Amino acid sequence: MRIALVSEHASPLAVLGGVDAGGQNVHVAALAIALGAAGHEVVVHTRREDPDLPDEVPMAPNVTVVQVAAGPAARVPKDELLPHMGEFADSLAAHWSRWRPDVVHGHFWMSGLAALDAGTRLDLADGGHLPVAQTFHALGVVKRRQQGANDTSPAERAWLEPDVARRADVVVATCSDEAFELKAMEVPSKRIAVVPCGVDVQHFTPRGPVEPRSGRLRLLTVSRLVPRKGVGNAIEALALLVAAGVDAELVVIGGAGDAGHLEVEPETDRLQQVIAEHGLQDRVVLAGRIGHDDLPAWYRSADVVVCAPWYEPFGIVPLEAMACGRPVVATRVGGLIDTVVEDVTGLHVPPRDPEALATAIRRVLDDPDLGARYGEAGRRRALTRYSWRRVAAETAKVYARLVAAGARAATLTGER
Ligand code: UDP
Repeated sequence: MRIALVSEHASPLAVLGGVDAGGQNVHVAALAIALGAAGHEVVVHTRREDPDLPDEVPMAPNVTVVQVAAGPAARVPKDELLPHMGEFADSLAAHWSRWRPDVVHGHFWMSGLAALDAGTRLDLADGGHLPVAQTFHALGVVKRRQQGANDTSPAERAWLEPDVARRADVVVATCSDEAFELKAMEVPSKRIAVVPCGVDVQHFTPRGPVEPRSGRLRLLTVSRLVPRKGVGNAIEALALLVAAGVDAELVVIGGAGDAGHLEVEPETDRLQQVIAEHGLQDRVVLAGRIGHDDLPAWYRSADVVVCAPWYEPFGIVPLEAMACGRPVVATRVGGLIDTVVEDVTGLHVPPRDPEALATAIRRVLDDPDLGARYGEAGRRRALTRYSWRRVAAETAKVYARLVAAGARAATLTGER
């Protein structure tokens, strides 16, 4: 198949760990590579942020990343990109009239908007139907519920996102929790498919280099430094553990800069305050952004990987930890409900509850055999359920259904 992936703000070529660069970049990159490896011809359209990149960058066998000129060729926060989506759609329509994809897959609501607008223009021009699949990665309705006035999404998201959900040929939800949200938005079940995100099970493995340990029990978080990721709660849980006599430390990976240069993000200041309040300066390491190349060694060095978001559309980090054979203590929210299996690959706790977090972490720290069993089960689960090869194959099946439905509709129209 000829597959166009649209990912307006999250380039598969981007550096990970900054405020706007996270799971979606990983997802789009890995999906594209796995689809390309399966023999599909894949083009990823992303907004040009770097004036020096060529228009088309080959990324992997059968995969090209196209830089779409829409707005300034510089980094623009995703919540300020809506005014440029018309230009983005113009560019998609022009590209697709030269290279017509069999199927389009929008990632994030604004990509869906641009993809559907460009697709409609082509449909009107040639009387066909370009099928559009849509993955939201995050839903505005959930974000508003969770963040209230702190949600910086443009107001238009409230009506444009449900419209994308209703117009797309299929919405690919990444977890069952998202599927429930979509049904509540009146997307019919028959137009919802659930296909999870995946993890690179060849890269994230239990065996390999291990970051040096300090002699203390090590908790690890890996995330963008934004409040909803609950890193503050992990620090508070550490304080409770230390107060109870547990000799533990917390390594916090993530942030827009390297260790020592993290002050650009407001959340870093807040975390530093929480650390100081609890006198944990010598037990919390703000390690800054670490690239994927070096992350497995960090995961392997942890006794427990802590994922404490207040909400989480999917959450690739617990999968990476599981693939590295580490036990995970995770809040029971969003995608983590599906990925982390209670008392099999780790433990679930309620969100925003440092005491419950500390109790669960303690259970794993106190019983290294239990931690090892969770880790082994996590690795098995990552291999069987979440390899990108499997995720890409499931996604390609969804595409193939859309293409076949389009072909059937064309035949019926022709027969009439
Ligand atoms: N990540 C990274 N380096 C960092 C912080 C994060 O490579 O310093 C990666 C992490 O390994 C994962 C992704 O960013 O692959 C985060 O994805 P997730 O779905 O957990 O969260 P999101 O950022 O999408 O909210």
